[in-house]
Amino acid sequence: MTDQDRLIAAAAAAARQSYSPYSRYRVGAVVVASNGAEYTGCNVENAAYGASICAEANAITNAVADGVREIDTVAVTCLDGDGCSPCGNCRQIMREFGVRRVILTDPAGDPLEYALDDLLPRSFGPEDLQD
Ligand SMILES: [Zn+2]
Repeated sequence: MTDQDRLIAAAAAAARQSYSPYSRYRVGAVVVASNGAEYTGCNVENAAYGASICAEANAITNAVADGVREIDTVAVTCLDGDGCSPCGNCRQIMREFGVRRVILTDPAGDPLEYALDDLLPRSFGPEDLQD
């Protein structure tokens, strides 16, 4: 099993914990911090739709709550539909913590790997706001 396959399997396991009664679109994510620690997250929906949390944001906030400030990789997959891709908000959240590698899945469930720069070109981050 490749590293990509292992991370996608972990993301799929997280997706099985999804709370998505409205969309019925189960998403899971795994974050690999720069120190190698891994954190998972799933999407958590809310009757007030805007209060919903994406799986990637959930995994990243889990990592940050544990003291992580640098993240290397985020893997995301869904159990429903034809594959998934991070929303713009999550791409910017990834940018904040220096994510370099993003692993997604195609409709067949096979891994697709991207550099965050390809998913969020011409972005800005914390270094752009420092004096
Ligand atoms: Zn998102």
